[in-house]
Amino acid sequence: MLLDVTGRRVVVVGAGRVATRRVRGLVDAHADIVVIAPEVDDAVRLAGVTVHERPFAARDLDGAWLAVACTDDPGVNAAVSDAAAARRVFCVRADNAGEGSARTPAVARHGDVTIAVNGGDDPARTRALRDAISAALAAGDLPLRAHRRPAAGSVALVGGGPGDPELITVLGQRLVSDADVVVVDRLAPRQLLDALPDSVEVIDCGKSAHRHNLTQSEINDVLVDRALAGKRVVRLKGGDPFVFGRGGEEWLACLAAGVPVTVVPGISSALAAPALAGIPLTHRGLAADFTVVSGHLDPGRPADQGVDWPGLAVNAGTLVILMAMDRLHLIADALIEHGRPASTPAAVVHRAASEHQQVVRARLDGIAAAAREAGLSAPAVVVVGAVVDVLA
Ligand code: SAH
Repeated sequence: MLLDVTGRRVVVVGAGRVATRRVRGLVDAHADIVVIAPEVDDAVRLAGVTVHERPFAARDLDGAWLAVACTDDPGVNAAVSDAAAARRVFCVRADNAGEGSARTPAVARHGDVTIAVNGGDDPARTRALRDAISAALAAGDLPLRAHRRPAAGSVALVGGGPGDPELITVLGQRLVSDADVVVVDRLAPRQLLDALPDSVEVIDCGKSAHRHNLTQSEINDVLVDRALAGKRVVRLKGGDPFVFGRGGEEWLACLAAGVPVTVVPGISSALAAPALAGIPLTHRGLAADFTVVSGHLDPGRPADQGVDWPGLAVNAGTLVILMAMDRLHLIADALIEHGRPASTPAAVVHRAASEHQQVVRARLDGIAAAAREAGLSAPAVVVVGAVVDVLA
């Protein structure tokens, strides 16, 4: 039982085999133990245990915190349970767990972890479950890692996923809840901020695609500044921090300032947007690889200054393009010019993982016009390849 009985009166009625076991446990828990029974086994007479060799009387429970009825007479056990209820004292019945107001669990311990099991009052099943949990604890199959707050004066670069607050990792969510300062991007799952207490400082880095409230170097400075002031800082980013997120620059800025920094991966929009549009990036027989590129530079640049569009055009794999909406027509033209068939299926996935998600499909030579007609702008992920239509 997960009760602190240290120095608290626990009355055990009965003094046979079951009572002896219970008394041993209560001695270990440093309870103030009183045993009442007409005949008492010597095994029960332990240090710190008061023994009364007489029948139980209701007033024996005056001042008790817990009663344990373990005689072999159901009538006596019922009387203990009734007297306990009348005094608002919890009572365990050894003969009939369901009749008591408290239950003795089967217990598994591992270091400072205690697991108490009740298997629907079926003792054999309870023990089997307890043993299985014990074995799993010993084998390291259960998450025993201590949950500790991140150190004060540190920065965590947390990938928030594509936007739906449920698509952040468990660790990312926990760090956000534990943060003193959250420095947030436009495309991060901002709904998570609603749950933060007013004491948390929220710093907004950008409200629209082309207008940033803070420059990258100002962001780096604010991360370092708050961490050096002893705060737990979370840099909450859209997708994954290390995929077109400038997380690497923030990492280096922290390192240069001697600030401890960690990264929590997130589900990149490069993966989430196609998936949520029903597009598998690889599919047996259609595509065995995919390439993620940025479309924010002019595709007319030479390959050594940007993306190798001619190379990507001849590769048959799936192409995933982020930040492509301003130059989609140029990109599609470049791919076709260098060898991708104009009929290659393509899709634009706008604001994936939000209630505003929209998907437009067209041939590669028509995708830019189709997106424009549908009014789709950034943020969007473009997918090019036969996989676009495989589940459609
Ligand atoms: N680190 C991010 C990418 C940041 S770059 C990640 O891993 O997802 C910003 C680009 O990501 C946008 O221009 C767009 O192409 C894409 N993007 C981010 N979130 C998106 C979303 N919810 N839906 C569609 N595209 C998204």
